[in-house]
Amino acid sequence: MNHFLLQPFNNFLKLSEFTKKSLKKCCGGDRVIDLLFHFPISVQNRVSDVHNFSEKDKLSTVVKIIEHIPPRRKVLPYKIIGQTAGKDLVTILYFNYDISFIRKSLPIGGIFTISGSAQKTTEGIQLIHPDIIAQPSALKYHVGTEPIYPLVAKLSNHTLRYAIGSLLKIMPEVSDWIPDTYELPTFSESIRIIHNPRTIENTLISNPARRRIALDELLVNQIRLKQIRSSLSKQRTMPFQQTNKIIGNLKLPFELTKDQLSCLNDIKNDLASTVPMNRLIQGDVGAGKTVVALLSSLIVLENNYQTALLAPTEILSLQHFDNIRQLSKNLGIKVDIMLSSNRKIRFRQMDELKNGKTQILIGTHAILENEIEFKNLGLVVIDEQHRFGVLQRLALIKKCRYPNVLAMSATPIPRTLLLGCYGDLDVSTIKTKPQGRKPIETIVVNVSQINNLIKRLQGVNSQIYWVCPVIEESEDLINVSMRYDYLSNFFPVKEIFTLHGKMKPQEKEEIIRKFKNGEFKVLVSTTVIEVGVDIPNANVIVIEHAERFGLAQLHQLRGRVGRGSELSYCVLLYHNPVSHVGKQRLQLMKNTTDGFLISEEDLKLRGAGDILGKEQSGFHALRFSNFSSNSELIQIAEKMVKTIKLNQENIEFLYKIFSRLHEDIIA
Ligand code: ADP
Ligand code: MG
Repeated sequence: MNHFLLQPFNNFLKLSEFTKKSLKKCCGGDRVIDLLFHFPISVQNRVSDVHNFSEKDKLSTVVKIIEHIPPRRKVLPYKIIGQTAGKDLVTILYFNYDISFIRKSLPIGGIFTISGSAQKTTEGIQLIHPDIIAQPSALKYHVGTEPIYPLVAKLSNHTLRYAIGSLLKIMPEVSDWIPDTYELPTFSESIRIIHNPRTIENTLISNPARRRIALDELLVNQIRLKQIRSSLSKQRTMPFQQTNKIIGNLKLPFELTKDQLSCLNDIKNDLASTVPMNRLIQGDVGAGKTVVALLSSLIVLENNYQTALLAPTEILSLQHFDNIRQLSKNLGIKVDIMLSSNRKIRFRQMDELKNGKTQILIGTHAILENEIEFKNLGLVVIDEQHRFGVLQRLALIKKCRYPNVLAMSATPIPRTLLLGCYGDLDVSTIKTKPQGRKPIETIVVNVSQINNLIKRLQGVNSQIYWVCPVIEESEDLINVSMRYDYLSNFFPVKEIFTLHGKMKPQEKEEIIRKFKNGEFKVLVSTTVIEVGVDIPNANVIVIEHAERFGLAQLHQLRGRVGRGSELSYCVLLYHNPVSHVGKQRLQLMKNTTDGFLISEEDLKLRGAGDILGKEQSGFHALRFSNFSSNSELIQIAEKMVKTIKLNQENIEFLYKIFSRLHEDIIA
């Protein structure tokens, strides 16, 4: 029998087709667990005493509508007067309004529960844009503390809360797999606690219920790592020697750094041995990891074996494709790129992989799919390893004739945690950056100074990244199109373009190419450029709402500049209010560019609750935990996997609840 949590939530909810679709989009899956794993990010208090409420609360009350007062001028608010049972007057204000909507939803004589932000003024109570208009009997549902969820367009918090609440009511207890001695809430308890937060503190990762779920996720990671270890330990590979048959003709436009050379040396030794290579290259952004990966794949190619390079985003894959093709253009080798969006040429690509014509394949998750087969895959390179889970590594290893793995990451992880995060990988580090790089100067600017900033930017000779946190539907975060509109008052239209995750890959590719060729000056973008994008002529990056980004992400973003020989600037443009921790983060970024130091501090300043969620940074392997901030839990999980007894049923259940839609292809 299929467990309740794994069944489609549609089986248990009476909702419109549209709502069901929105729910699926919102939580990224159609199973009960997908909805229950959609956690609140904050809380809202609603009170019903019209004489006693504070401004951060929302006021819920039942009113009878007694009068409509349309404004004399369009810029003024539309007013509606309502009266409570206690004869208090409540003025409802609408600023941007649709008259027919107002007349229909709040007709004179009608009695409604309304709820929204309220103020006491000399003219009585004002309630601005009620966010709830319901039957009078619904008042009881709109009083108390309400969890606030991340939403997608047209889905209300209320609907989502109702759906989750209905499922919680019928959720059976799951028999738990973590023994009481750990003193953590059970799995079922945790899910209930997480959806009923009393305070904002309850929604932070430090909450025991959230820690419990994070621990489960890390436990799954441990179990999978163990699986990799046992499947690799028995295998032997064919030794690959560098012959210089191909590398002899390679002309790099620069000398390799000392650290790049020593990394490469480690890799050569690994490849020359009969034990499969299992190596992680750690090196800060801009350290030059890609060329090391290219050289490794050329050694493998000199032995007539293929390489697959997996990257987390389409943009990054395209960039690797461009770079590698450029560097290897006189070598006569066939490099190909495979993206999920590019299905039309898939069959031809598959043929060429299978008959060995394609020698290096670059791509996103698309290359993990079962139908993708290689003639003789001898090396797997995983870029930005911290973005991928063990599952992806396993899926690629399965396709290998000889499973040599080279993982790369710019997120440094302390040695004590490496085993717990990635399993037993050997590590090479690139510490020094290529010579001639000028330092990046970081400036912290309040958004009130934006016009001065723009004036200065008009004068600089460099291309500019302007990064915004979201692309639509957010009330208080400046989004790409709004910022684009504003900036086009200052820059000629042909000098400014936008880039965001919802664009088609071809569009993205074209914009990036144009930017790379210097065809325009300002690229207004979401964080799709966060990872690995490499454009040496862009020496200025403006990060809007910098106060809402985590340190690791700010560091990644800042790493987009400082790649050429010019002095570079990173402008952290912040909006008020800024939390105390937010200020500390901005200050730290201003004071240092040392990635290792930043990641240490990141550990301390994390969990502040004001950092934008995973939605902002795209796909991450771990959802509820984090290699850099859950060090203690990682160690617990590492011990746990050795000490507690999990039966096959537990393990399969855990695998299933922690797998997501896009992972079905490899599950
Ligand atoms: P990352 O380590 O962040 O992946 P990349 O591999 O993208 O860094 O390299 C960043 C930039 O540095 C690229 O433009 C690359 O061509 C250049 N680069 C790499 N190695 C060297 C080197 N030894 N000397 C000069 N430039 C280099
Ligand atoms: Mg890179």
